Amino acid sequence: MKTDVFIGGGGIGGLTLALKLARRGFDVVLAERMAVRSPTYKGELLQPKSMQIFDGLDVYDAICDRSNEIKVLDMLELSSTLKVKDQSFMDYSVLPGKYNAAYMIHHEELKTIIRKSACEYDNFHYLKGTACKGYTENTAILQKGAEKFEVEAKFFFGAEGRSSVTRKAMEIEVKQTTYNHHFLTVTFPRAENFTDGKIISTYNRFLGLFPLPDNQVRSVYLIPPGDYKTLKEKPISHFHKLYTDLAPAVDGYVQRLADWKKIQLMIPVMYHAESYVKGNKAIIGDAAHAVHPMAGEGMNMAIQDADVLGELAADMLAEEKTDTANLAWYEKVRYRRADHVIQLSHLAALAYSFPYRPVSYLRQRTFERMEEDPILHFKQMLNVSGLGLWKENVRDRFIQGGFMPVRAKELTEGTKELKYYKPEDDYPWKVEGLI
Ligand SMILES: Cc1cc2nc3c(=O)[nH]c(=O)nc-3n(C[C@H](O)[C@H](O)[C@H](O)COP(=O)(O)OP(=O)(O)OC[C@H]3O[C@@H](n4cnc5c(N)ncnc54)[C@H](O)[C@@H]3O)c2cc1C
Repeated sequence: MKTDVFIGGGGIGGLTLALKLARRGFDVVLAERMAVRSPTYKGELLQPKSMQIFDGLDVYDAICDRSNEIKVLDMLELSSTLKVKDQSFMDYSVLPGKYNAAYMIHHEELKTIIRKSACEYDNFHYLKGTACKGYTENTAILQKGAEKFEVEAKFFFGAEGRSSVTRKAMEIEVKQTTYNHHFLTVTFPRAENFTDGKIISTYNRFLGLFPLPDNQVRSVYLIPPGDYKTLKEKPISHFHKLYTDLAPAVDGYVQRLADWKKIQLMIPVMYHAESYVKGNKAIIGDAAHAVHPMAGEGMNMAIQDADVLGELAADMLAEEKTDTANLAWYEKVRYRRADHVIQLSHLAALAYSFPYRPVSYLRQRTFERMEEDPILHFKQMLNVSGLGLWKENVRDRFIQGGFMPVRAKELTEGTKELKYYKPEDDYPWKVEGLI
């Protein structure tokens, strides 16, 4: 078998990359080792930049139709008697333009939308139940059941997630950071009018609630490492109470979980490969980096990697400039952005990692200040959205810490838009030229 581009892994990253390339008319072979839908929970929150990318791929409407739009994340800090002490908001509508909301969608359903769209192109070949086992110099070695075969390609892109075969073939090691907490995660029914995201915390507890379509809500509940096994030995009513204590809004709904079977353990990790490209190979998404799920960024990073690498590879093929040195553009654009998001997610994780009252007080104060100061609020939402990057400076930190007064002045839409990435930031080789 011979193709232009081989992609290992049919998760969100691999499928988005395939759709981009297929639409540009290039031959793509994608091997996905799973033959059926994955039963594990994965990322489900789409940030504004991902929606902008999906708009460009003509799947925006299909995704909106099957999502719950989230304009606001409601951050509640509770006292030890579980009374609301403080409430602040992360509001996507501070972002000017069309992409000013996040969207919650069932992970497997998003994959189906992208895969179906890619399958409309005859030049896309989806090999399900087929694992990538490794590489020779110009072929990927694949296995389906007992059958082994090879695919010859110009480029080989690894989108196989955390245990990437392509990353191993590129001899790139990753050093994993773990956290002092794990999460329980599960989806269950919700009230129809419960549509905004909620993050509810006390000094030693954390519950995130992210409404999905079909009146369902995805939840994450922080637990100490090792507690999953002992928790599962308790009656399910114990789990219900952990949730209803913090979120009365789920009372009457969480109880529909009748046993522990659907409640999964999620172990957060962080790593960043030292490079994304080697010769005719590149890695994207979780193969290249993993972030703590607190900021809801993992899947979005995979989509954004796919967008840049897909555009680059398509331009290289279209201009017949297939010198692999050009692949460095992908790393040049994405590495710094990904690094910032990894740090952002890490900081958000640390804010909930220490079960002490002074930490809870500091967190509450930081969120209050972020909401009151229009520049801080915009920076936070911009950086989370992926639409642009505007790093916090020393003055911002002083304001956040309460050592300087908040700024009253609102930013104009024009000033805000100046901070958005422009096409030449996303695809600089189109201006500077390929070799
Ligand atoms: C268990 C888990 C839970 C998560 N939960 C959350 C969450 O709650 N919130 C959040 O924001 N993020 C979460 N994430 C992160 C987010 O889901 C990922 O960042 C995102 O899915 C990355 O997409 P990807 O396409 O890079 O990789 P993946 O989604 O991991 O997709 C990789 C695909 O490659 C396939 N594959 C693997 N090896 C091979 C091979 N050798 N050959 C062929 N195919 C192969 C896999 O079957 C899979 O379909 C979670 C991740 C994991 C692993």
